[in-house]
Amino acid sequence: MNQTVRPRIVASACPHDCPSTCALEVEVFDRHTIGRVRGAEDNAYTAGVICAKVARYAERVHHPDRLMQPLRRVGAKGSGQFAPISWDDALALVAEQFIRAEQAHGSEAVWPYYYAGTMGFVMRDGINRLRHAKKYSGFHSTICVNPAWTGFIAGTGKLAGTDPREMAKSDLVVIWGTNAVNTQVNVMTHATRARKDRGAKIVAVDIYMNGTMRQADLPVLIRPGTDGALACAVMHCLFHDGKADWDYLNRYTDAPRELAEHLRTRDPEWASRITGCPTATIEAFARLVGETKRAYFRLGYGFSRSRNGVANMHAASCIAAVTGAWRYEGGGAFHHNDAIFHLDKSLIEGKDAADPSIRMLDQSRIGAILTGDKDALRGGPPVTAMLIQNTNPVTVAPEQDAVKRGFARDDLFVCVHEQFMTDTAQVADVVLPATMFVEHDDIYLAGGSQYLLLGPKLIEPPGECRSNHDVICALARRLGAEHPGFAMTPRQLIDLTLQKSGWGTLAELEANRWIDCQPDFATAHYLDGFAYPDGKFRFKPDWPTVPFGRAHCTVRSAMPSLPDHWEVIEEADSEHPFRLATSPARGFLNSSFTETPTSLAKEGRPEVMIHPDDAAPLAIADGDAVTLGNRRGAVRLHARLFDGVRRGVLIAESLWPNKAYADGRGINTLTGADPIAPFGGAAFHDNKVWLKKQTN
Ligand code: SF4
Repeated sequence: MNQTVRPRIVASACPHDCPSTCALEVEVFDRHTIGRVRGAEDNAYTAGVICAKVARYAERVHHPDRLMQPLRRVGAKGSGQFAPISWDDALALVAEQFIRAEQAHGSEAVWPYYYAGTMGFVMRDGINRLRHAKKYSGFHSTICVNPAWTGFIAGTGKLAGTDPREMAKSDLVVIWGTNAVNTQVNVMTHATRARKDRGAKIVAVDIYMNGTMRQADLPVLIRPGTDGALACAVMHCLFHDGKADWDYLNRYTDAPRELAEHLRTRDPEWASRITGCPTATIEAFARLVGETKRAYFRLGYGFSRSRNGVANMHAASCIAAVTGAWRYEGGGAFHHNDAIFHLDKSLIEGKDAADPSIRMLDQSRIGAILTGDKDALRGGPPVTAMLIQNTNPVTVAPEQDAVKRGFARDDLFVCVHEQFMTDTAQVADVVLPATMFVEHDDIYLAGGSQYLLLGPKLIEPPGECRSNHDVICALARRLGAEHPGFAMTPRQLIDLTLQKSGWGTLAELEANRWIDCQPDFATAHYLDGFAYPDGKFRFKPDWPTVPFGRAHCTVRSAMPSLPDHWEVIEEADSEHPFRLATSPARGFLNSSFTETPTSLAKEGRPEVMIHPDDAAPLAIADGDAVTLGNRRGAVRLHARLFDGVRRGVLIAESLWPNKAYADGRGINTLTGADPIAPFGGAAFHDNKVWLKKQTN
């Protein structure tokens, strides 16, 4: 890169699966080269701060290992032996295989599979236009948001909360179940501003002493899957100590007296036995909440990734309704702002061509689906052909052994459109090279704040890389799929989507860089009532009818009717004395950035954090090779002795490529794909395991 050339600074948006969706300023040196990436100073949420991994994005864009040309498998499945092939031949082969699958088993035998490797709507969701037009099997997205969103919506009636910038105006910021230092640094920007400007306190609730916990004034360290108990004890104290706002409760909530009565037995001693957190810490937390009107509850995804995660999210969200914190600027609760954007994606996704009789297959259960589980296949035909964009299920999906067995099937044809040779690309039949966000146009929604942002094409794609949109439209032509969206450019799709959604035009967005979609104070604070017909916050939700728009299945289970500790987690037992959570690493973002040298250098190698008092009886020393296992499989990695967890809890910061582990089995070998009630989801942080030192 010629650093003597003065770069242009161009506005963009972070495409990664991170709630912040930062507004970026990218240095562009020429038609092929970017330099540093910075956060936009004048974006009120980004406020000039982005994470280190995206600041170094040039490392990813100009990485020597990027896929540059289409490849065709020439060795055995999974051998990693590929030979170059032309785009025309590659697309013809994919189309031929899809048509063959459809002729043999019907259209549902083809399963387009995608996820959040890019959060741009055109590039991420355009694959649905192809599947609707061709009546391919649907994709029920369950890996991430279902439990958290359902739990929050259960109380409020819609997925929206207090303006996240109000954290800076709060007197108490509670960061619950999200290691913001690792996963959304902007939360820390606003929380620490409140501390600096107003003397606000920061409370963090988490399962290990991570970066966010270390920055908190009061870290509340609990065992995984016990957040509901903690929330109940806090509310118990609020009622007991006269800190509940009864005027607010009577006006805005559904069953306050029932809740108060129910919580009488859920005191801090009860919660301490479940959470492992000292009674005094729980009481100190409750005191802070009770004494602070402007208390802001920033609720994250992490603690929803348990089998009782939906109930836990709901329980935590109830606290602000007990104190009436919603009334005050800098008070209330927030998880995600999906509902404020009312984005009409029907054109991008081809929803007018959707056929509701076509089955939806659960993303998390890909292992069961590909290995022929009848229930997972919902009684339909086998999946014999796949197009995979923006995701890496061989690393990311739970029950990894089953996923690998599924992809090893000789009668399964897989096309992976990717940026790097991921674990999933390794097992494909055809691999297509994909663009990165600076190489195509797209729009992004910042669910962790309130912005719609444009990420325009800034440089030409390297080699023969093509965008997701190009591939979808090219395949549509070869497959005879018809929809007006296939004839549009990304910019046309963006322009019409904005107009249909009431957000102006592409030209306007381009001129302004982003749109602040924040509703007014009364709406964001639910001062005119919550989003249920009677305007009441639900302490007692009717779980099967919680208005979660992405519910494609119902998991029957007797969920607690009021906030509680729901005993459905994988509790440790004599065979599996430890509970394992697979929390996010700072240098990686899901399985992205596991190829960039600085992220790899920072993360080192796959390790599991073990409390020294748990390690000692097993003769495990810091740095020893250890094996974790359960009925799903076993994983080999290295021990890191760490006293910032409760006894019996193990933390493996992830996600590493499978090849980084001693025998190629990644951490998701240990995680389960059984769906979480009420609408599905994977419990990545809820695994009972055994632990032993490796002897060879
Ligand atoms: S903090 Fe999140 S949104 Fe911001 S640049 Fe980093 S990954 Fe992207």
